[in-house]
Amino acid sequence: MSPTEPWYADGIRFECARSGKCCTAHGQYDRVYLDDDEAEEVAALLGLTLAELERRHCWFEDGWRLVKFADGACGFLDGARCTVYEARPVQCRTWPFWKENLKRSTWKRDVAAFCPGVGRGRRHDRDEIEAIADEASGDA
Ligand code: SF4
Repeated sequence: MSPTEPWYADGIRFECARSGKCCTAHGQYDRVYLDDDEAEEVAALLGLTLAELERRHCWFEDGWRLVKFADGACGFLDGARCTVYEARPVQCRTWPFWKENLKRSTWKRDVAAFCPGVGRGRRHDRDEIEAIADEASGDA
């Protein structure tokens, strides 16, 4: 690995362990955002209208639609199970490969030491990691 390459240039193994840990409030992570398309998909999965979904499960801040939390966890979490897994938003699908997580110190502290999916499963190569990070930040 050359000194100009990122620390994850050889890839990172990750497979969601369905622990539900990333669905709980931890450190600066305490929000789940739903854009319009995502909210429609979650509503359809739950058999709700958008208005019903928003009334029961969402709150709004600065023009953003957020999922209500209960007892420190996303309201869609039931035990360790995401009840909207098939329609979970980009934010959840792209965990843990968010740009803010790809700083080595942040990864070590806030991801590797926290998420049991790190080090499991398939190795994601650098290009894939960066493509996911772009998707997570809306740059894709
Ligand atoms: S939507 Fe599902 S995957 Fe995303 S934080 Fe909530 S429970 Fe977890």
